[in-house]
Amino acid sequence: MSENKRINVLHLYPREMNIYGDWGNVLTLLKRLEWHGYDPQLLEHHPGEPFPHDVDLVIGGGGQDSGQGIVQVDLQKIAQELRALADDDTPMLMICGLYQLFGHRFVTHQNESIPGIGIFDLETIAGNNRMIGNVISSSPHGKLIGYENHSGATWLGKNQKPLGKVLKGDGNNGQDSTEGAIYRSVFGSYLHGSLLPKNPQFADELIRLATIRKFGSFEPRVIDDTFSDKARAQSMKRPR
Ligand code: GLN
Repeated sequence: MSENKRINVLHLYPREMNIYGDWGNVLTLLKRLEWHGYDPQLLEHHPGEPFPHDVDLVIGGGGQDSGQGIVQVDLQKIAQELRALADDDTPMLMICGLYQLFGHRFVTHQNESIPGIGIFDLETIAGNNRMIGNVISSSPHGKLIGYENHSGATWLGKNQKPLGKVLKGDGNNGQDSTEGAIYRSVFGSYLHGSLLPKNPQFADELIRLATIRKFGSFEPRVIDDTFSDKARAQSMKRPR
């Protein structure tokens, strides 16, 4: 396939920050890009490595507190590149542990403060109540369906837009009905599941943003989403 259809998908910390099936988000993007007629290339960033060039889409997942501890130093080293990409409207999706670190900080149960990179105006404090279960939220990109599992409670700054409003589940903190965050084309969410296989409309939104940024247009093809439609319908009926 020709160079001019190439979309470089960068997966951040696939070893340390990749739990509860978050890898499915990467797979879904690669497959759907291909089905839409693009040429996806998977790049990975590991601690200590140089940050890659020509990044079109960035994906990051969840992790244990220990995983967040391991990547924290490297994340500060690549913060400038990530902020520049965010301000240049590069689409990104950060789930749970990396979502927390795209805010200002995550304060753990041991009262250790892991600094974030402040792309989102939010902070997360570990609580005693673990928020676990199926989630449905309403977002500008349709109903998002997923599964949360975190003890961190995230509090958005006054002007920080959430990604969605919780219809079922706890979302950011179990109290204010917000779920996730949006800054330009950067999305943060607590929804594992994985999120994108169950929410193909949201996967296509990330692809649309990436292709418009790179080529000036998005020419989607029709994809048969019968199986994900069934999975969505089934998941919506699941108890919390
Ligand atoms: N360690 C964080 C928390 O429990 C993130 C968990 C996760 O990524 N699932 O809040």
